[in-house]
Amino acid sequence: MRSGYTCLIVSIITRLMVVLLLCYLAFMTEYLNFKLAHNNARLVELSAGKPMRIFYEQTEKFFSMFGDPLETAQKNGGMTWSIRIMGVPFTDPVSAISVLAKNHRMEIGFVLGLIGPLALALVFGRVFCSYICSASLLFFSISRLRRLLLKWFYFPEWSLNRGFAWGVLIGGTLVCLAFGHGIWSLLLPYFAVGQTVFHGLAFGTLSVSFFSIVVFSIADLLLGKQFTCRYLCPTGRLLGWIGRRSLVSIRREAPRCLENCNACADICPMRIKPNQDETVDCSLCGECMIVCPTKCLSIAPIIGKRKVTAGSLK
Ligand code: SF4
Ligand code: SF4
Ligand code: SF4
Repeated sequence: MRSGYTCLIVSIITRLMVVLLLCYLAFMTEYLNFKLAHNNARLVELSAGKPMRIFYEQTEKFFSMFGDPLETAQKNGGMTWSIRIMGVPFTDPVSAISVLAKNHRMEIGFVLGLIGPLALALVFGRVFCSYICSASLLFFSISRLRRLLLKWFYFPEWSLNRGFAWGVLIGGTLVCLAFGHGIWSLLLPYFAVGQTVFHGLAFGTLSVSFFSIVVFSIADLLLGKQFTCRYLCPTGRLLGWIGRRSLVSIRREAPRCLENCNACADICPMRIKPNQDETVDCSLCGECMIVCPTKCLSIAPIIGKRKVTAGSLK
């Protein structure tokens, strides 16, 4: 793929769809509750109002296309931790580590749910971060705001060793062993977003996870561009590691690259240097392709050795 704008537009659309899906799943819990309690649209309206009745009826109609609506609703759903869509399970790799560490076993559905995310990372690297993660649209927006504010204010650009996120993964797993899986709703940004959406829409309450989103947002605004994704989020680190030899990544046509140009490395949210053929941690966001003056960058299959330099580890 040659157009960075195509990547950008597609990634915005897919992430918006994920956020909408999260909202829908939060309401679906309500649908299930009403279905089990009343199984009647009129009673739903009496207890929760007209908009809920409309949602109930439309959901009922939609699920009826696939068979019994209650059965279909129960077969689908979940949240960012583990989700089932049209019967296909998807499991967050961090949740798998956490469940295995705490329970010493995993349900077969949970294991099968790992196939999709792992295959995606093996083929396309850290693509989850730019096209699926429900938190990344927020961090993407904050990085734009930061870029705008930098015209008038000074903000530092801090670096940590990228291994810090492994520490978050190990620390989170240890806390989980002592106190349970709830810690991830504070440490994983997309989990925090999912939890906040769920609590807000299903219960009308503010989840404690919201405060963790605020902390991540402040870190991104004040400490460095996409600071959370680069240094704090264990899922990003894990997916970057799994996809370090991904089949598809950013590729440079070296003869067309300009000697004194650094535009691609400057814009990269992951601080990768495509002009030095670094590919590890690339999320295929396409931003470097947009700014490249000679259009010598593209997303394509990568053959041969990868470059893991100091730049890609900091
Ligand atoms: S690093 Fe984490 S929070 Fe950032 S985009 Fe990737 S999964 Fe989402
Ligand atoms: S190298 Fe950086 S800017 Fe370019 S596609 Fe990958 S993550 Fe995006
Ligand atoms: S932006 Fe394009 S021309 Fe400039 S260094 Fe990167 S790859 Fe080379």
